[in-house]
Amino acid sequence: MVQLTQEHKQIILNSIRDIPDFPKPGIVFKDITTLLNNPKAYGLLIDHLTNRYKQMNIEYIVGLDARGFIFGASLATKLNIGFVPVRKKGKLPGDTISEKYELEYGFDEVEIHKDAFNNKNAKVLIIDDLIATGGTASAAAKLVKATGVTLVECCFILNLTFLDGVKKVEQFAPVYSVLDI
Ligand code: AMP
Repeated sequence: MVQLTQEHKQIILNSIRDIPDFPKPGIVFKDITTLLNNPKAYGLLIDHLTNRYKQMNIEYIVGLDARGFIFGASLATKLNIGFVPVRKKGKLPGDTISEKYELEYGFDEVEIHKDAFNNKNAKVLIIDDLIATGGTASAAAKLVKATGVTLVECCFILNLTFLDGVKKVEQFAPVYSVLDI
């Protein structure tokens, strides 16, 4: 199915649990471990994404550290295409390019291997579990574009709409979110 039914969306949404006050007071953490161990909900999600991106002829999936790796690698296997990680600074062993971005307090930095894509004309999708302020995904989008490939879309399982992160990321590529909350 290319479009998810309301019922299917509800099954996926119900499989994600809220953990209040994690990692600090006032934050409601969206825990996707309960989606991963629910084969019906996870199957519906991956089938949906497979159908959507099969039609777009994506050639690489870029997953964001760390939960984006799980969704991205599952999807890449289904589509029979390559997977590329964007990691937090200092984790990738080869030559990298990096991008700093602002957090509520201070900065963070993400990296990609310089030679991550062997086809420089490739069509690429970025995926992560959740978009909040859009800072992480925007930095990743800058990195992907800096390698010269075409960034076709940024995909998120959950979009925390009240933080308006989509607006920021849309400056780099179209955004698709499975569930808006
Ligand atoms: P942001 O850069 O603000 O869009 O934050 C997105 C990143 O932080 C993603 O990698 C998410 O996994 C994580 N994140 C931010 N807020 C939450 C939340 N409420 N629950 C779970 N993960 C979150």
